[in-house]
Amino acid sequence: MTTKKKILSISFIVFPAALFLVYWAKIYTNGQEFRSAIPGLTAFATLGVMFILERIFHYKKGVSQKPLALRDLSSTLMNVLVTGKVLGAMVYTPLVLFLPEIMFGRSLFFATPADLGPFWLQLFLVLMVYSFFRYSVHRIQHIIPFLWELHSYHHGVTDLKASNTYVSHPVDFSLRNVLPPVALGFIGFDPMAIVISAGLLNTASTFSHCGAGLHAGPILNYFFVTPEVHRWHHSAKVPEGHKFSVNYGVGFAIWDRIFGTFYLPVEDGIPVQPDRLGHPSGYKDEGNYFKLFFLWRYMPKFMRPKEG
Ligand SMILES: [Zn+2]
Ligand SMILES: [Zn+2]
Repeated sequence: MTTKKKILSISFIVFPAALFLVYWAKIYTNGQEFRSAIPGLTAFATLGVMFILERIFHYKKGVSQKPLALRDLSSTLMNVLVTGKVLGAMVYTPLVLFLPEIMFGRSLFFATPADLGPFWLQLFLVLMVYSFFRYSVHRIQHIIPFLWELHSYHHGVTDLKASNTYVSHPVDFSLRNVLPPVALGFIGFDPMAIVISAGLLNTASTFSHCGAGLHAGPILNYFFVTPEVHRWHHSAKVPEGHKFSVNYGVGFAIWDRIFGTFYLPVEDGIPVQPDRLGHPSGYKDEGNYFKLFFLWRYMPKFMRPKEG
């Protein structure tokens, strides 16, 4: 085997192995005291693994994100540590609690997890319901103008990196990442089914921003939104025949395959990657977190504080 082929085959093994290991560690440490004592531990540990992979396996079309380090760090701290707690606990939980109260006169859609059938069926249902919810919300975020305004800050990034995984306006981020698990919890699924199924999709969705020059392999690329799949979602040029974007799945790619929004060209067994990533309308990546947070680009001019 030539050195080039050896490197290529290693690269096909490393990504699935890292994904599996991080997922296994998450399940293994679930409910343990040290994990709940350190806020955001699993998110930061996952980003750490992705960061190391990026240092070892360089992506040949990579674009440095160093000038955006402060924006990336601010957005990551906000969305990992604050967004879920504030919007999840103060907005989505009361809302999701209130809806079944007025619809059915009770606080859970189903009284006990047993109402939802055997454990294996709940695992499957959580995978399907959770991934469909996130796919739909994400697709709608590309269609409704106001939601696109919020979401398009995530599309300013010019390369996928661990550092910009959490670059999103908090409201945009929470609609895709906080609202679905809150709703899932109140449907009444067995909590362990949520940990195992939703945990897999969450690990995959975080890894979808790994900027390492690695191949995920045909099986992962079929079922999951790997970096090779997610780069096309961030392509500056929307692939021909598609309207807003492609690959809307968050974690799971199966709904894109069902609804015809999946796109990943393959040549000689290797996925082709887009030439350039960035906002499809050409907006530059917003490097100032303050401006991202206050939706600067969309503020009427007279409301914007003078720059200087
Ligand atoms: Zn998007
Ligand atoms: Zn992304």
